[in-house]
Amino acid sequence: MGEECIFCRIANGVLNGHDSGGPEIPSEKIYENENFFSVFDIAPQVEGHALVISKKHFETTLDLPSSLGSEFLDCVKNTALKLMKRFGAEGFNVVNNTFECAGQVVNHFHVHILPRKKGDGYFLSLGEK
Ligand code: AMP
Ligand code: ZN
Repeated sequence: MGEECIFCRIANGVLNGHDSGGPEIPSEKIYENENFFSVFDIAPQVEGHALVISKKHFETTLDLPSSLGSEFLDCVKNTALKLMKRFGAEGFNVVNNTFECAGQVVNHFHVHILPRKKGDGYFLSLGEK
């Protein structure tokens, strides 16, 4: 993928988190390793809401090579640890939306990290049961 994918653009360091037509500045990277990096979500659902994103363009979770699993987990863990420390959170949720019907809007592999505090009032639904 190239310039039309927003997460490829962020991976290439040319776009800030706000695609508002203003000047393009690099996003603040929270953590990165060879194949993944994390940045803050442009529309946070909770304080410190971040995204772990693959540096290469994979459309969905199913396209991500399993061989990248441990590096992915490394990025999730280190991002969550940094967020918990920075925002005084006591835990976190990891959320992945795969395919449109499950809420995937950006077709470039990513997971959401949502730092959580006791009594923060955020309700994470796993959908209808
Ligand atoms: P999903 O529904 O899982 O595809 O989530 C996509 C997420 O990407 C949403 O939470 C958006 O707020 C977020 N997002 C979209 N564009 C940007 C951007 N330029 N920088 C940071 N986050 C973004
Ligand atoms: Zn992409």
